[in-house]
Amino acid sequence: MSDSNCIFCKIIAGALPAKKIYEDEWVLCVEDIKPTAPIHYLFLPKKHFHSLIDLNLDRQGSDGAKYLEKIFSALTIVAKKENIHESGFRTSINTGTEGGQTVFHLHVHLVGGKKLKGHV
Ligand code: AMP
Ligand code: ZN
Repeated sequence: MSDSNCIFCKIIAGALPAKKIYEDEWVLCVEDIKPTAPIHYLFLPKKHFHSLIDLNLDRQGSDGAKYLEKIFSALTIVAKKENIHESGFRTSINTGTEGGQTVFHLHVHLVGGKKLKGHV
C-alpha cells in the first residue's frame, strides 16, 4: 500500500509535514510546496501507485479506476470550495521522466486562481 522511500507516502502517513487541503478515505489533497499559481494543489491517492500507468486502467478488476474516480471526485469538491469551478482551472498528470514527473507517486495537479496561458 505504501513505499517507505516515497515522500508522498510519508506525507500521507503524517511523517512529513504538508498543508492539508482535503482528505477522505481514498485521497489526500495538499498544497504544492512550490506553487506556480495562487492555487496549486496535489491530489494523492492514499495507495502508492508509481504513475498513471500503474493504475492499470487497461485491466479489468484493477482498483485503479476507483482511485481515479475518487481523485477527481475530491478535485471537484475542492474546486467548488475554492470557487474556481466556473472561472476555470487546469488539471495535469505528469507521467514518467519525459513527461516531467519528478515524484513517483501518482498525483494530479490542480492549478488555478489566475488566467493561465498555454496548454502546459
Ligand atoms: P511532478 O513534477 O508532476 O512529479 O510534480 C511533483 C510536485 O510535487 C512538484 O510540483 C513539487 O513542487 C511538489 N512537491 C515536491 N515535494 C513536495 C512536498 N514535500 N510537499 C508538497 N509538494 C511537493
Ligand atoms: Zn508513495
